Amino acid sequence: MEIIKWKLPTNHEIGWAACFHFGNANQHVEGIKKYIDWLRGSKNRYGFINGDIAEAIHKNDKRFEASRHTELILDQYARAVKMFKPIRHKILGANEGNHDHTIASYGCFVEKLFCEPLEIPYGTYSSKLIINDPKGRLQYKVFTTHGNGSVRSNHHDPVLRAAQEQAKVKAKLSGERMADCYLNVIAHFHKAIIVQPVQELYLIDDGKVIKQRYIDEANPKANFIPVDLRFYISSPGFIRKYGEGSSYAERGGFTPLELGFIVSKTVEGKIEKCYKILV
Ligand SMILES: [Zn+2]
Ligand SMILES: [Zn+2]
Repeated sequence: MEIIKWKLPTNHEIGWAACFHFGNANQHVEGIKKYIDWLRGSKNRYGFINGDIAEAIHKNDKRFEASRHTELILDQYARAVKMFKPIRHKILGANEGNHDHTIASYGCFVEKLFCEPLEIPYGTYSSKLIINDPKGRLQYKVFTTHGNGSVRSNHHDPVLRAAQEQAKVKAKLSGERMADCYLNVIAHFHKAIIVQPVQELYLIDDGKVIKQRYIDEANPKANFIPVDLRFYISSPGFIRKYGEGSSYAERGGFTPLELGFIVSKTVEGKIEKCYKILV
């Protein structure tokens, strides 16, 4: 866990990306280029990379396939650095993912071979971002972690399936208890999931009649932001299920998934909404 501080304009957007898996034969390279193009599209756009930068599957890994994992792990990170170097000043930091961690006994590749060459902050597996305004006053805080496990729902109704997956993302992230984080970000599931704050109805009386009231939206600068008033997002990845040959995603029976990233849009110092950009 690292705490990373930035001063950003009060109107800005952050593209939360993850799971590039450089070295995976099914990588959607054009999709990653679209993320880079999006970052370039406006001076107030920034990015954060939430782990699984490289596929990093080595010869002793049970998922290793000689015909598919042909790119050296060193070259996987080198290719990632080459792609992001021209926009490195827009990247707020990067976390390690479980794929990157499979080779941790040889050193931290994300720190040494991605963050250091790009001169961007290294977050470790989880990090907190403190987003201040240009004068150093707090706008809001973000908790990020690559994540683990699954949020998969097999419900046959797509509405309930989405609701169950949203609830699982919210439970995982709110369980981290980062009470001062208005935005909470996870990846790993390769699923585009957004959970908006919920401002529910409550009733009071004025001594004569019952009156309806609605919970105020959160103060993003507060030390305790109620669980239901925070944003939670899960970033999708850039790996297609099907390509040439077969992949561990096929053998694992994983569902084909949307590819892309999620944007948080901040207006006048407050996150206004989160939305997905699919590629
Ligand atoms: Zn991944
Ligand atoms: Zn992962």
